Amino acid sequence: MNENQMKSNSERIFYALGTLNQIKIFDRLDEQLLDIAVQRVLEIETLMSAFKTDSDVSKINQNAGKGFVSIQAETYRLIKRSLAFSKMSDGAFDITVRPLVELWGIGKKKNYIPTEEELICTGKLVDYRKLILDKNNHRAALRDNGQAIDLGGIAKGYAAEEIKRIFAENKVKSALINLGGNIVAIGSQPDGKVWKIGIQNPCAPTGKYFGFLSIIDKTIVTSGINERFFMKDGIRYHHILDPRTGMPASNKILSVTVICDCSTDADALTTTLFVIGAEHGMELVKKLKTEAIFVTESLDIIASIGLKDKFNLFNNNEK
Ligand code: AMP
Ligand code: MG
Repeated sequence: MNENQMKSNSERIFYALGTLNQIKIFDRLDEQLLDIAVQRVLEIETLMSAFKTDSDVSKINQNAGKGFVSIQAETYRLIKRSLAFSKMSDGAFDITVRPLVELWGIGKKKNYIPTEEELICTGKLVDYRKLILDKNNHRAALRDNGQAIDLGGIAKGYAAEEIKRIFAENKVKSALINLGGNIVAIGSQPDGKVWKIGIQNPCAPTGKYFGFLSIIDKTIVTSGINERFFMKDGIRYHHILDPRTGMPASNKILSVTVICDCSTDADALTTTLFVIGAEHGMELVKKLKTEAIFVTESLDIIASIGLKDKFNLFNNNEK
């Protein structure tokens, strides 16, 4: 254990996938299962991080323009799911966005704004149609030199879904998983009551909520401008990029929350909705028969109809 980890007999708090994670079991003490869950997240990080040189993602990126590389079946499946979201959103969600992520260096470079020329040049590398899968051999290839993939928009959701699976196999009845804002509420509270899950206020520090959802057995995922950003000349540059412009997506949205059954899909969908905006976003939400909450720049809160009895706003002095 290092300073990034905290261990209690019912909970693990640890750093992985570029974020702080918390896993807590409520209906029993099971240290071994908690450790298995943490290990699973670390395994996924080892396979899917763009920063680990031996990961599947790095192997694909290092071979861009050179041909297929063999990857693990689960990386293959997650890339395939990512491509489904790219097709569904006409490229608004695109894991080949990595060259732009690097160009901006949000959270790494210091307040760097690329030139128009850099944006055009790098933007040409972003195209999910040039990410080719070989389904018979679990192989993947990027067609052009300089292309690269980044599973940052979907991997946390996948990891949360994997812990959900492990807990279900071990008959856990009450648990909360929070991987950097990707929440899975398993079962109900230990006394049988519904979970009340706070929704992050995108204008306030982490842990400040504007409302809450009353749910049982659901995943709640939020993407917001408050997660990774820098300010320059009064403009906020955040980490969700519009592949069509190369710029941080600007749709007058501060955050998007998706509520559904699958955390992988919820993660990809929040990033997608952030790029396509509230109006088209709500159409997609309806089409997918899922639920979402948008917070706009004018602080309007737009919630899908299915949340009518589940979503409550805090009044100001409750927040
Ligand atoms: P999230 O916090 O889940 O919305 O994911 C944001 C992360 O996904 C960023 O830090 C990037 O690594 C990656 N990303 C940024 N823009 C996109 C995009 N348009 N499509 C897919 N992934 C993206
Ligand atoms: Mg996401």
